[in-house]
Amino acid sequence: MFLAYCDECDRQMLLPASHIRALHNLARGVIAVEMTCYEGHVILVLSGSDIDIPGPAPV
Ligand SMILES: [Zn+2]
Repeated sequence: MFLAYCDECDRQMLLPASHIRALHNLARGVIAVEMTCYEGHVILVLSGSDIDIPGPAPV
């Protein structure tokens, strides 16, 4: 499960891996995860080992 925040729904939610649309390697250790929320909105979340902000974490 991934913790993601949807701007359009204005809330945080746990999304299963099946909601991942794409993964983009932006740089070494930085990954942009493209997901869709339960309403179908596209959410882009930064993740990876080299960034400090909270990102999606496998549960
Ligand atoms: Zn949404």
